[in-house]
Amino acid sequence: MRVLLVGSGGREHALATALARSPLLETLYAAPGNPGMAESAHCVDIRADDIDALVQFAREQNIDLIVPGPEAPLVAGLTDACAQANIACAGPSQAASALEGSKAFTKEVADAAGIPTARWQRFDHDKDAALRYIREQGAPIVIKADGLAGGKGVIVAQTVEEAEHAVHQLGLPLVIEECLVGREVSLFAFCADDDAVLIGAARDHKRVGDGDTGPNTGGMGAICPPADFDRDAQEKALDLTVRPMLAEMKRRGTPFRGVIFAGLMLTEEGPKLIEYNVRFGDPEAQALLIRLESDLLPILKNLADGTLSQEAITFSEKPSIALVLAAKGYPDAPKKGGIIEGTERLETLPGVQLFHAGTALKDGKLIASGGRVLTVCATGKTPAQARARAYEAAATIQWDDKMLRSDIGAV
Ligand code: ATP
Repeated sequence: MRVLLVGSGGREHALATALARSPLLETLYAAPGNPGMAESAHCVDIRADDIDALVQFAREQNIDLIVPGPEAPLVAGLTDACAQANIACAGPSQAASALEGSKAFTKEVADAAGIPTARWQRFDHDKDAALRYIREQGAPIVIKADGLAGGKGVIVAQTVEEAEHAVHQLGLPLVIEECLVGREVSLFAFCADDDAVLIGAARDHKRVGDGDTGPNTGGMGAICPPADFDRDAQEKALDLTVRPMLAEMKRRGTPFRGVIFAGLMLTEEGPKLIEYNVRFGDPEAQALLIRLESDLLPILKNLADGTLSQEAITFSEKPSIALVLAAKGYPDAPKKGGIIEGTERLETLPGVQLFHAGTALKDGKLIASGGRVLTVCATGKTPAQARARAYEAAATIQWDDKMLRSDIGAV
């Protein structure tokens, strides 16, 4: 099969590595890709959100399957454009991608499907009504801008004043919701219409600094599975928070096909839905995909065609971890240009895999060219072994501005 993978981060490198193992793969292209992906894919200079150029390339190259990594092309309608051109695409339609693109839509679907989630209200035009609602409900309370905001559109307000300020800061339309208490986990599944197969669960570490301090980032690390969310709990949560959504989306005539990422809060009353994303997380994808034992390519092709087979999908039970190596200054102003050394030694370490994100080649040397630069992943017999392997491997990679958290997966 001829495959076009869309994206350039660690998540996409992990997808490329899994796809490259497939005996069914004839040629892999990556748009735009990165130097790590270039080992298994032909990188083409097309932006991940340039739908027209992606579809045109896929037509010219007789691509059999497009695999989108990030959300931007999905929300912009890549899958619909592919359908018109008769090209299979392993991601949800634009209508189904509204599960990530609009928080109010997600809440409506969750309510219609009977999925446990925080109590909520939507405010489209009336700021005063929003302020009144906050005063009625009291704090803590959560204020959310109703659109894609790259993780910056959500304010968990501890006081009424803070919540009022958030309303002015975010503007309308808004979703205001009850503040849930518990620990967060991320649940992942392959979905095709009303069928779902568990991929696994992870816990990510969003803040830049140890002890969950400093600004929010795209993610500094992930562990899989979370110690308090075993396979049995994951299957139950899938029944509670994903399968009813799939049935509801099908009923609405906008069935979901792709990878669903359900952000859940494990509350005293059980898991409750915080949000859906319509694709893998980064770095959760890396931690999840290094456990995949099956051939990813037919799974994604079948999924694009609307079929899934539980038997064809197996993951190792081994715990895994993903550590993000970022550049100093990330997330605000990452230092670029540092020469990266020591990556080749990782290949010899047991259970370890390295994925590129913000890297580039300059004069034959690997340099840092983005905020999140590399992801070091490891599996182990125990979470402690996976963790030790990953930190040991991360220590062998050197560049002047290397920065990583020291407490990913620490208990
Ligand atoms: P991201 O891009 O970081 O996933 P997002 O902009 O899509 O974020 P959400 O995932 O809905 O927004 O919210 C971001 C974070 O805010 C959550 O991961 C969670 O920590 C917190 N949060 C959201 N809703 C609630 C809630 N109802 N109760 C408590 N915390 C919440």
